Amino acid sequence: MKIAQPLVELEWIPRPRLTALRRLGIEKVEDLLTHYPRRYEDRHQFPSFPREESDLPICLCGEVINTQVRRFGGWKKIFEVTLQESQANALSQPVVCRWFNLHYVQKMIATGQQLVVFGKPRLRGKRICIDHPEFEVIESDEEISIHFRRITPIYPATEGVSQRHFRSIIHRVLGELSDGPVATLAPDRLVSGDRRSALQSIHFPENWEELKAAREHLVLSEFFALQMLIAARRAQSDRRPGQVHCGTGELLDRFLKQLPFGLTGAQEKVISEIRAALAAKQPMNRLLQGDVGSGKTVVAIAAILLAVEAGFQAALMAPTQILAEQHYSVLRRWLEPLGLRLALRTAARQEESGPLPLFSQGVLSGNGNGSGSAGGPPAESGGSPDDPDDIYYSKRRLPHFERPWAKYAITFATRDRRTLSPEARQIVFDCILKWREKRYELFACCVMADHVHLLIEPAVKEVSKDGSTIFFSLSEILQTIKSYTAHAINRLTKSKGALWESESFDRMIRSENDLHEKFRYIVRNPYDAGVVRATEEYPWVWSGEDVRRVPPTLSASRRKEQASGLRSPESVATLPATEPHIIIGTHALLYDTVAFHNLGLVVIDEQHKFGVAQRARLTAREPAPDVLVMTATPIPRTLTMTVYGDLDVSIIDEMPANRGKIVTAARDEAKLPEVLAFLRKELESGRQAYVIYPLIEESDKLEAKAAAVEFARWTERLHPFTCDLLHGRIPAPEKQLVMENFRSGKTKVLISTTVIEVGVDVPNATVMIIENAERFGLAQLHQLRGRIGRGEHKSYCILLTNDKSSETQEKLGVLEKTSNGFEIAEADWELRGPGDLLGTAQSGLPALKIGSLKSDASLMRRARAAATLIFEKDPLLEWPENQRFRQLIVEEQGRTFANVS
Ligand code: ADP
Ligand code: MG
Repeated sequence: MKIAQPLVELEWIPRPRLTALRRLGIEKVEDLLTHYPRRYEDRHQFPSFPREESDLPICLCGEVINTQVRRFGGWKKIFEVTLQESQANALSQPVVCRWFNLHYVQKMIATGQQLVVFGKPRLRGKRICIDHPEFEVIESDEEISIHFRRITPIYPATEGVSQRHFRSIIHRVLGELSDGPVATLAPDRLVSGDRRSALQSIHFPENWEELKAAREHLVLSEFFALQMLIAARRAQSDRRPGQVHCGTGELLDRFLKQLPFGLTGAQEKVISEIRAALAAKQPMNRLLQGDVGSGKTVVAIAAILLAVEAGFQAALMAPTQILAEQHYSVLRRWLEPLGLRLALRTAARQEESGPLPLFSQGVLSGNGNGSGSAGGPPAESGGSPDDPDDIYYSKRRLPHFERPWAKYAITFATRDRRTLSPEARQIVFDCILKWREKRYELFACCVMADHVHLLIEPAVKEVSKDGSTIFFSLSEILQTIKSYTAHAINRLTKSKGALWESESFDRMIRSENDLHEKFRYIVRNPYDAGVVRATEEYPWVWSGEDVRRVPPTLSASRRKEQASGLRSPESVATLPATEPHIIIGTHALLYDTVAFHNLGLVVIDEQHKFGVAQRARLTAREPAPDVLVMTATPIPRTLTMTVYGDLDVSIIDEMPANRGKIVTAARDEAKLPEVLAFLRKELESGRQAYVIYPLIEESDKLEAKAAAVEFARWTERLHPFTCDLLHGRIPAPEKQLVMENFRSGKTKVLISTTVIEVGVDVPNATVMIIENAERFGLAQLHQLRGRIGRGEHKSYCILLTNDKSSETQEKLGVLEKTSNGFEIAEADWELRGPGDLLGTAQSGLPALKIGSLKSDASLMRRARAAATLIFEKDPLLEWPENQRFRQLIVEEQGRTFANVS
């Protein structure tokens, strides 16, 4: 018999059992032998009968001296067997074995027989009893030696085949396996001994040491096979022709300068790691691990900018429509001012950035070229008259940067991101216009729901005695606007206290292009933020009086930038002017209809939602693009080398400093009224909230109904605060609208399923209530909680549950204790085991049969080192002594290493 032999060929296995085995996935001898025991029982025979109770089951052998059936509770029966020690002495006492309602046992046991039993001895009255022991009537000694008087294997699920039969089959197969070693596919220096004896000992060990050695042998060879697969993948991708995808970093610097915050140390660290990888010729395959809210998007943008600057296109793939849309709007806001073109490709929406319809229609474009007496976007002087993009510019508004007077872009926000009503916005807007020409020259302004953008140049305040010019300071100007409006709005809303955040973000304009970008950014803000549709007017935006909201088109501003020589000529130039620099999308990106142009970098957000195969689909092109995979699901560090073994790993292990704390509390659902009162208080002070409810996905109809019920309930509870509903069945465009309304503060509370799970970023949302929290996994709860605590406010996550089981309490307790993703991953692992980490489409790795990722971590390290060493020396597996390893590298669809390379 050979290890690869199909079991069907073994005549002695009864056919029904074969069918049952097949259901367990056992077809070949090898499958059977690698159906490893789940645990073992020490069924070594006890030298003498016990006289005390024991919590450990023991194995006894004796003669049946009496059998008896007794009745209890009417028709129920107990079958009792009295067993006498073989070499009975004066002190020995018989043991009574009892079976309740098991008629067949009665037929098997008779007085005079020799019996082996295994079970826990209990004191019942004066007698020692064993209830429902495993037993065997001794007929052949061979059978006994398989099941008793030894360390006996207990197998995992053997549905349709009893433990006994299973054990017997394995025993016989092991015996018939042709002598001579079965080769272990691992280097000698990693494992000792041969596979055949390891298999023998894992099922029927002579002693515990032998079992331990056999297990180590098998675990190492299993891990080695896994690591060979990983190393092969890696070697394969390293061999693919790659390119350098890294620009000078000038574009990145400009981006970083306009960021309203500084990078964390961790962000800087990973950006430089990524930068080095982009600059290398080898294709990058890198995983970016960082907790929710750690700022991965900025890092992704940094990578994108480096690639774009080198003349490549970049793609950003998100797992959901909402996330793709969010990335699209965030990236547009930040990158269009830098002159980049973006495109969105999702199943529901395809869109190019560039002039929004409003701007291209020209209906609102005022009176055109140079005529105006006032207002208008700032533009460089001397734009040639035949440049169509310049015709809307009003010359009088052309500030020349050469003038020694500084211009500033200023952003200031409401305290706690309180939302301004339309009336309040009008007050702010009027105030800004009112002081224009008095304290500053105004080029553009925009009053949003919770923040204000200004583009100004402070006016001359006085000329000092010594003749130098003194300007209004920024703080004077802001003070004027803030205090005036705060007063007026407080009066309007009958409220008190500070309206505005005391600090504001201001930045001196450094160049003509800078001015253009900022101008454009401000007048388009309401459109880009999705607050109004392109065809609608936003009343609180100002860019001059006679020429209204006609920003230069993207191409014009880009041409200007290039003409002004600010950007190096080769940067961004390699792409045809119509191609987007950045394509953002969902799975839609995977389909051939999306035409990439010189794709240099692929960023995949929230990788765990995409499988390896999907990843390959986007990246398997020549020359290979660099790939950055982002995940917010930290996994224990010891696992990284396996689950993400074919990737380099960068870790963001630091949160931005300005984060408000998240307080997490598990509460009984009975406490709902108090929770509601708390929620109302938060809403009253301007915050927003998520309510998450678990949904059993039974059918569309049921789901919609359940959602509607939830929604009605919460709307009533939270009246008059506006609630909105989000779940998986809502069509994408509507979903987007819902998100936009929430983002802009129009909706206060979002009642949602877990569709908001990943990546959604609304800093003003500070409360999350999770209903039936026990139904979610730790990792998922942590992910959900990551939606809050994104602004500087203190946030609250309330986990509602009725479940008092220790399991749930422990799980929720972890969340109350820590918000560190790595710690939570460890705890999750502790509570639940790594379970689905391997053997899934996401990892593309086979599930482990014997090794444990957790307790065998050190063996994994050894296996990994061995595999890495082989590929380092022989990356194509060409050496004769490595030939045998080729069969280990069989990828998913049966592709072997041999026919890939
Ligand atoms: P995630 O890692 O979950 O994708 P995001 O990239 O969405 O996190 O960042 C969350 C929020 O933190 C965003 O609003 C982002 O602008 C902000 N942010 C990112 N980096 C920093 C930083 N260094 N300092 C302050 N805020 C930051
Ligand atoms: Mg994100």
